[in-house]
Amino acid sequence: MKHMKFPALLLLAAFLFTGCAFPSASSAPESRSATVFAMDTVMQLTVYGTPSSGSDEALLDEASSLIASLESAFSVTDPESEISAVNRAGKGAVGPDTEALLLAALDLSKRTGGALDCTVYPVVRAWGFTTGTYRVPSREELDLLCSLVDWTAVRISDGTVTLGESQMIDPGAVAKGYAGDKVLRLFRENGITSALVNLGGNVQALGAKPDGSPWRIAVADPRGNGYAGILEAADRAVVTSGGYERYFEENGTVYRHIIDPADGMPVDNGLSSVTVIGERGILCDALSTALFVMGEEKAAQFWKQSDDFEAVLLTDDGRILVTEGIADVYTPCGSWENAPLTVIRHD
Ligand code: AMP
Ligand code: MG
Repeated sequence: MKHMKFPALLLLAAFLFTGCAFPSASSAPESRSATVFAMDTVMQLTVYGTPSSGSDEALLDEASSLIASLESAFSVTDPESEISAVNRAGKGAVGPDTEALLLAALDLSKRTGGALDCTVYPVVRAWGFTTGTYRVPSREELDLLCSLVDWTAVRISDGTVTLGESQMIDPGAVAKGYAGDKVLRLFRENGITSALVNLGGNVQALGAKPDGSPWRIAVADPRGNGYAGILEAADRAVVTSGGYERYFEENGTVYRHIIDPADGMPVDNGLSSVTVIGERGILCDALSTALFVMGEEKAAQFWKQSDDFEAVLLTDDGRILVTEGIADVYTPCGSWENAPLTVIRHD
Protein backbone atom coordinates (compact mmCIF):
# COMPACT_ATOMS: atom_id res chain seq x y z
CA MET A 1 0.00 0.00 0.00
CA LYS A 2 1.40 3.39 -0.97
CA HIS A 3 0.48 6.44 0.96
CA MET A 4 1.52 10.02 0.96
CA LYS A 5 1.15 13.31 2.69
CA PHE A 6 1.85 16.53 0.88
CA PRO A 7 5.56 17.12 1.56
CA ALA A 8 6.23 19.90 4.01
CA LEU A 9 9.17 21.03 1.92
CA LEU A 10 6.94 21.85 -1.00
CA LEU A 11 4.75 23.92 1.29
CA LEU A 12 7.78 25.85 2.44
CA ALA A 13 8.89 26.28 -1.14
CA ALA A 14 5.44 27.55 -2.07
CA PHE A 15 5.81 30.20 0.57
CA LEU A 16 9.24 31.31 -0.51
CA PHE A 17 8.11 31.41 -4.10
CA THR A 18 5.86 34.32 -3.26
CA GLY A 19 9.12 36.24 -3.27
CA CYS A 20 7.80 38.44 -0.56
CA ALA A 21 9.03 36.90 2.64
CA PHE A 22 12.49 38.37 2.46
CA PRO A 23 12.50 41.65 0.52
CA SER A 24 15.92 42.48 -0.85
CA ALA A 25 15.60 46.25 -1.26
CA SER A 26 17.29 47.91 1.70
CA SER A 27 14.46 50.45 1.98
CA ALA A 28 11.86 47.70 2.50
CA PRO A 29 10.54 47.38 6.06
CA GLU A 30 12.13 44.58 8.02
CA SER A 31 10.35 41.29 8.11
CA ARG A 32 10.41 38.57 10.69
CA SER A 33 9.26 34.99 10.15
CA ALA A 34 8.39 32.08 12.39
CA THR A 35 7.92 28.44 11.46
CA VAL A 36 5.42 26.47 13.50
CA PHE A 37 4.47 22.81 13.26
CA ALA A 38 0.81 22.52 14.18
CA MET A 39 -2.42 20.95 12.92
CA ASP A 40 -0.32 18.25 11.28
CA THR A 41 1.44 20.67 8.96
CA VAL A 42 4.24 23.21 8.63
CA MET A 43 3.15 26.82 9.09
CA GLN A 44 5.05 29.97 8.17
CA LEU A 45 4.16 33.34 9.65
CA THR A 46 5.80 36.54 8.37
CA VAL A 47 5.15 40.09 9.51
CA TYR A 48 6.58 43.29 8.03
CA GLY A 49 7.33 46.44 10.00
CA THR A 50 7.02 46.79 13.73
CA PRO A 51 3.96 46.27 15.93
CA SER A 52 2.40 49.26 17.70
CA SER A 53 3.80 47.96 20.98
CA GLY A 54 6.26 45.22 21.86
CA SER A 55 8.55 43.47 19.40
CA ASP A 56 7.75 41.57 16.21
CA GLU A 57 9.36 38.53 17.82
CA ALA A 58 6.96 38.69 20.78
CA LEU A 59 4.03 39.10 18.38
CA LEU A 60 5.06 36.00 16.42
CA ASP A 61 5.42 34.09 19.70
CA GLU A 62 1.90 35.15 20.63
CA ALA A 63 0.62 34.03 17.21
CA SER A 64 2.37 30.64 17.61
CA SER A 65 0.82 30.18 21.06
CA LEU A 66 -2.57 31.13 19.67
CA ILE A 67 -2.28 28.45 16.97
CA ALA A 68 -1.14 25.88 19.56
CA SER A 69 -4.10 26.67 21.80
CA LEU A 70 -6.56 26.40 18.90
CA GLU A 71 -5.01 23.07 17.92
CA SER A 72 -5.32 21.73 21.45
CA ALA A 73 -9.03 22.63 21.43
CA PHE A 74 -9.86 21.41 17.88
CA SER A 75 -7.73 18.27 17.42
CA VAL A 76 -9.54 14.97 16.86
CA THR A 77 -6.40 12.96 17.58
CA ASP A 78 -5.59 14.62 20.92
CA PRO A 79 -7.75 12.89 23.56
CA GLU A 80 -7.47 16.02 25.74
CA SER A 81 -9.08 18.34 23.17
CA GLU A 82 -12.55 19.86 23.50
CA ILE A 83 -13.61 18.14 20.28
CA SER A 84 -12.43 14.72 21.56
CA ALA A 85 -14.37 15.24 24.79
CA VAL A 86 -17.53 16.04 22.81
CA ASN A 87 -16.93 13.02 20.54
CA ARG A 88 -16.55 10.70 23.54
CA ALA A 89 -19.57 11.89 25.49
CA GLY A 90 -21.81 13.03 22.61
CA LYS A 91 -22.08 16.34 24.42
CA GLY A 92 -19.82 18.85 26.10
CA ALA A 93 -19.02 22.39 27.08
CA VAL A 94 -16.61 24.10 24.69
CA GLY A 95 -14.73 27.38 24.67
CA PRO A 96 -15.67 30.37 22.52
CA ASP A 97 -13.30 29.39 19.67
CA THR A 98 -14.64 25.86 19.31
CA GLU A 99 -18.19 27.21 19.49
CA ALA A 100 -17.50 29.85 16.83
CA LEU A 101 -15.69 27.31 14.62
CA LEU A 102 -18.53 24.79 14.77
CA LEU A 103 -21.24 27.42 14.29
CA ALA A 104 -19.45 28.64 11.16
CA ALA A 105 -18.99 25.06 9.94
CA LEU A 106 -22.70 24.29 10.39
CA ASP A 107 -23.62 27.48 8.57
CA LEU A 108 -21.39 26.48 5.66
CA SER A 109 -22.76 22.92 5.70
CA LYS A 110 -26.19 24.44 5.21
CA ARG A 111 -24.97 26.74 2.45
CA THR A 112 -23.21 23.91 0.58
CA GLY A 113 -26.11 21.47 0.90
CA GLY A 114 -24.02 19.22 3.14
CA ALA A 115 -21.01 18.89 0.79
CA LEU A 116 -19.07 20.15 3.81
CA ASP A 117 -20.12 18.12 6.83
CA CYS A 118 -17.93 17.79 9.92
CA THR A 119 -20.04 14.83 11.11
CA VAL A 120 -18.39 12.79 8.33
CA TYR A 121 -15.63 11.99 10.85
CA PRO A 122 -16.65 8.34 11.57
CA VAL A 123 -16.31 7.70 7.82
CA VAL A 124 -12.97 9.55 7.55
CA ARG A 125 -11.74 7.51 10.52
CA ALA A 126 -12.88 4.21 9.00
CA TRP A 127 -10.74 4.93 5.92
CA GLY A 128 -7.81 5.66 8.25
CA PHE A 129 -7.25 9.22 7.07
CA THR A 130 -6.88 10.62 10.58
CA THR A 131 -4.49 7.94 11.84
CA GLY A 132 -2.59 7.00 8.68
CA THR A 133 -3.63 3.35 9.14
CA TYR A 134 -5.37 3.15 5.80
CA ARG A 135 -7.95 0.53 4.80
CA VAL A 136 -10.89 0.19 2.41
CA PRO A 137 -14.08 -0.27 4.46
CA SER A 138 -16.84 -2.54 3.12
CA ARG A 139 -19.98 -1.03 1.58
CA GLU A 140 -21.99 -2.35 4.57
CA GLU A 141 -19.68 -0.61 7.01
CA LEU A 142 -19.85 2.62 5.00
CA ASP A 143 -23.67 2.47 4.84
CA LEU A 144 -23.81 2.10 8.60
CA LEU A 145 -21.36 4.97 9.17
CA CYS A 146 -23.05 7.20 6.58
CA SER A 147 -26.28 6.91 8.55
CA LEU A 148 -24.50 8.89 11.30
CA VAL A 149 -23.48 11.71 8.94
CA ASP A 150 -25.95 14.56 9.37
CA TRP A 151 -24.88 18.07 10.31
CA THR A 152 -28.52 19.03 11.06
CA ALA A 153 -28.46 16.77 14.14
CA VAL A 154 -25.74 18.88 15.83
CA ARG A 155 -26.98 21.42 18.39
CA ILE A 156 -24.90 24.29 19.73
CA SER A 157 -26.14 26.64 22.37
CA ASP A 158 -24.60 28.64 25.21
CA GLY A 159 -21.21 26.99 24.82
CA THR A 160 -22.54 23.43 24.81
CA VAL A 161 -22.31 21.16 21.79
CA THR A 162 -24.72 18.23 21.56
CA LEU A 163 -24.28 15.59 18.87
CA GLY A 164 -26.88 13.22 17.48
CA GLU A 165 -26.84 9.55 18.53
CA SER A 166 -23.37 7.99 17.98
CA GLN A 167 -22.19 11.00 15.96
CA MET A 168 -18.63 12.35 15.98
CA ILE A 169 -17.24 15.55 14.50
CA ASP A 170 -13.97 16.59 12.87
CA PRO A 171 -13.48 20.30 12.18
CA GLY A 172 -10.29 19.55 10.18
CA ALA A 173 -11.73 20.97 6.96
CA VAL A 174 -12.15 24.44 8.49
CA ALA A 175 -9.73 24.62 11.43
CA LYS A 176 -6.76 26.11 9.56
CA GLY A 177 -8.95 28.78 7.99
CA TYR A 178 -10.29 29.74 11.41
CA ALA A 179 -6.75 29.84 12.83
CA GLY A 180 -5.53 32.00 9.92
CA ASP A 181 -8.34 34.51 10.49
CA LYS A 182 -7.44 34.76 14.18
CA VAL A 183 -3.72 35.19 13.49
CA LEU A 184 -4.38 37.99 11.00
CA ARG A 185 -6.74 39.67 13.46
CA LEU A 186 -4.01 39.52 16.11
CA PHE A 187 -1.52 41.10 13.69
CA ARG A 188 -4.00 43.81 12.67
CA GLU A 189 -4.82 44.63 16.30
CA ASN A 190 -1.11 45.10 16.89
CA GLY A 191 -0.73 47.66 14.16
CA ILE A 192 0.70 45.36 11.46
CA THR A 193 -0.51 46.29 7.98
CA SER A 194 1.46 43.79 5.92
CA ALA A 195 1.81 40.09 6.73
CA LEU A 196 1.62 36.71 5.08
CA VAL A 197 0.80 33.42 6.74
CA ASN A 198 0.94 29.99 5.16
CA LEU A 199 -0.81 27.43 7.30
CA GLY A 200 0.06 24.29 5.39
CA GLY A 201 -1.16 25.51 2.01
CA ASN A 202 -3.79 27.89 3.39
CA VAL A 203 -2.20 31.21 2.46
CA GLN A 204 -3.66 34.31 4.09
CA ALA A 205 -2.42 37.81 3.31
CA LEU A 206 -2.90 40.86 5.49
CA GLY A 207 -2.78 43.93 3.28
CA ALA A 208 -0.45 44.12 0.31
CA LYS A 209 3.33 43.72 0.11
CA PRO A 210 5.16 46.51 1.94
CA ASP A 211 5.74 48.32 -1.37
CA GLY A 212 1.99 48.33 -2.01
CA SER A 213 2.05 45.72 -4.77
CA PRO A 214 -0.05 42.53 -4.51
CA TRP A 215 1.41 39.31 -3.14
CA ARG A 216 2.22 36.62 -5.66
CA ILE A 217 0.77 33.45 -4.21
CA ALA A 218 1.60 30.10 -5.76
CA VAL A 219 -1.05 27.45 -6.33
CA ALA A 220 0.51 24.00 -5.93
CA ASP A 221 0.59 21.66 -8.91
CA PRO A 222 -1.64 18.73 -7.93
CA ARG A 223 0.61 16.50 -10.08
CA GLY A 224 3.44 17.35 -7.68
CA ASN A 225 5.67 19.36 -10.05
CA GLY A 226 5.97 22.61 -8.13
CA TYR A 227 3.38 25.18 -9.11
CA ALA A 228 0.35 25.22 -11.36
CA GLY A 229 -0.13 28.96 -11.28
CA ILE A 230 0.45 32.28 -9.58
CA LEU A 231 -2.28 34.44 -8.18
CA GLU A 232 -1.83 38.14 -7.46
CA ALA A 233 -3.85 39.16 -4.42
CA ALA A 234 -3.92 41.51 -1.43
CA ASP A 235 -5.94 41.14 1.76
CA ARG A 236 -7.16 37.72 0.72
CA ALA A 237 -7.18 34.11 1.86
CA VAL A 238 -6.12 31.63 -0.83
CA VAL A 239 -7.00 28.09 0.22
CA THR A 240 -6.50 24.92 -1.77
CA SER A 241 -8.05 21.50 -1.25
CA GLY A 242 -6.64 18.67 -3.27
CA GLY A 243 -6.73 14.92 -3.26
CA TYR A 244 -2.93 14.92 -3.61
CA GLU A 245 -2.51 16.28 -0.08
CA ARG A 246 -3.28 12.93 1.54
CA TYR A 247 -4.16 9.68 -0.17
CA PHE A 248 -3.36 6.03 -0.35
CA GLU A 249 -3.34 3.50 -3.12
CA GLU A 250 -4.61 -0.07 -2.89
CA ASN A 251 -4.93 -2.57 -5.74
CA GLY A 252 -4.36 0.18 -8.29
CA THR A 253 -7.07 2.49 -6.94
CA VAL A 254 -6.21 5.84 -5.39
CA TYR A 255 -8.31 6.87 -2.38
CA ARG A 256 -8.17 10.56 -1.49
CA HIS A 257 -8.84 12.13 1.90
CA ILE A 258 -11.86 14.23 0.98
CA ILE A 259 -15.05 12.22 1.43
CA ASP A 260 -18.41 12.67 -0.24
CA PRO A 261 -20.80 12.69 2.74
CA ALA A 262 -23.54 11.31 0.48
CA ASP A 263 -21.92 7.89 -0.02
CA GLY A 264 -18.89 7.83 2.28
CA MET A 265 -16.53 7.37 -0.67
CA PRO A 266 -13.35 9.37 -1.29
CA VAL A 267 -14.11 11.99 -3.92
CA ASP A 268 -13.12 10.93 -7.44
CA ASN A 269 -15.00 13.27 -9.73
CA GLY A 270 -12.33 14.51 -12.13
CA LEU A 271 -11.17 17.46 -10.02
CA SER A 272 -7.53 17.50 -8.93
CA SER A 273 -7.68 20.60 -6.79
CA VAL A 274 -9.88 23.52 -5.88
CA THR A 275 -8.47 26.87 -4.75
CA VAL A 276 -10.86 29.36 -3.20
CA ILE A 277 -9.99 33.03 -2.84
CA GLY A 278 -11.92 35.34 -0.53
CA GLU A 279 -11.76 37.67 2.42
CA ARG A 280 -12.11 35.12 5.20
CA GLY A 281 -9.96 32.05 5.75
CA ILE A 282 -12.73 29.98 7.27
CA LEU A 283 -15.04 30.61 4.31
CA CYS A 284 -12.30 29.72 1.82
CA ASP A 285 -11.27 26.62 3.78
CA ALA A 286 -14.86 25.37 3.99
CA LEU A 287 -15.62 26.12 0.36
CA SER A 288 -12.43 24.62 -1.08
CA THR A 289 -13.37 21.31 0.57
CA ALA A 290 -17.05 21.62 -0.39
CA LEU A 291 -16.44 22.58 -4.03
CA PHE A 292 -14.03 19.66 -4.32
CA VAL A 293 -16.89 17.37 -3.22
CA MET A 294 -19.38 19.05 -5.57
CA GLY A 295 -17.32 18.53 -8.73
CA GLU A 296 -16.80 20.83 -11.68
CA GLU A 297 -20.37 21.58 -12.75
CA LYS A 298 -22.00 21.97 -9.35
CA ALA A 299 -19.04 24.03 -8.14
CA ALA A 300 -19.42 26.41 -11.10
CA GLN A 301 -23.16 26.72 -10.43
CA PHE A 302 -22.49 27.35 -6.75
CA TRP A 303 -20.05 30.14 -7.63
CA LYS A 304 -22.63 31.73 -9.95
CA GLN A 305 -25.08 31.96 -7.05
CA SER A 306 -22.45 33.47 -4.72
CA ASP A 307 -20.74 36.84 -4.47
CA ASP A 308 -18.15 36.33 -1.76
CA PHE A 309 -15.40 34.22 -3.32
CA GLU A 310 -13.50 33.35 -6.49
CA ALA A 311 -12.02 29.98 -7.46
CA VAL A 312 -9.47 28.09 -9.56
CA LEU A 313 -10.37 24.50 -10.44
CA LEU A 314 -7.74 22.13 -11.86
CA THR A 315 -8.99 18.92 -13.42
CA ASP A 316 -7.46 15.45 -13.61
CA ASP A 317 -7.50 15.73 -17.43
CA GLY A 318 -5.38 18.89 -17.33
CA ARG A 319 -7.92 21.71 -17.73
CA ILE A 320 -8.04 24.98 -15.77
CA LEU A 321 -11.27 26.73 -14.82
CA VAL A 322 -11.06 30.19 -13.26
CA THR A 323 -13.92 32.40 -12.14
CA GLU A 324 -14.38 35.75 -13.80
CA GLY A 325 -13.28 37.90 -10.84
CA ILE A 326 -9.71 36.57 -10.81
CA ALA A 327 -9.23 35.65 -14.47
CA ASP A 328 -6.92 38.67 -14.98
CA VAL A 329 -4.73 37.97 -11.96
CA TYR A 330 -4.23 34.20 -12.26
CA THR A 331 -1.30 33.10 -14.42
CA PRO A 332 -0.83 29.39 -15.10
CA CYS A 333 2.77 28.21 -14.99
CA GLY A 334 4.94 25.11 -15.18
CA SER A 335 3.27 22.14 -16.83
CA TRP A 336 -0.05 24.05 -16.68
CA GLU A 337 1.23 27.03 -18.69
CA ASN A 338 -0.41 25.97 -21.95
CA ALA A 339 -3.31 24.01 -20.49
CA PRO A 340 -6.82 24.78 -21.83
CA LEU A 341 -8.31 27.52 -19.66
CA THR A 342 -12.01 28.31 -19.30
CA VAL A 343 -13.31 31.41 -17.55
CA ILE A 344 -16.47 30.74 -15.57
CA ARG A 345 -18.71 33.78 -15.92
CA HIS A 346 -21.97 34.91 -14.37
CA ASP A 347 -24.85 34.07 -16.73
P1 AMP B 1 -9.31 20.25 3.59
O1 AMP B 1 -7.88 19.84 3.50
O2 AMP B 1 -9.54 21.58 4.21
O3 AMP B 1 -10.03 20.12 2.27
O4 AMP B 1 -10.03 19.25 4.60
C1 AMP B 1 -10.00 17.87 4.39
C2 AMP B 1 -10.12 17.15 5.71
O5 AMP B 1 -11.44 17.33 6.25
C3 AMP B 1 -9.96 15.65 5.54
O6 AMP B 1 -8.62 15.26 5.77
C4 AMP B 1 -10.93 15.07 6.54
O7 AMP B 1 -10.35 15.03 7.83
C5 AMP B 1 -12.04 16.10 6.58
N1 AMP B 1 -13.09 15.87 5.56
C6 AMP B 1 -13.06 15.03 4.48
N2 AMP B 1 -14.18 15.16 3.75
C7 AMP B 1 -14.94 16.10 4.37
C8 AMP B 1 -16.21 16.67 4.10
N3 AMP B 1 -16.93 16.34 3.03
N4 AMP B 1 -16.68 17.61 4.97
C9 AMP B 1 -15.97 17.98 6.06
N5 AMP B 1 -14.77 17.47 6.36
C10 AMP B 1 -14.25 16.55 5.54
MG1 MG C 1 -10.95 23.01 3.86
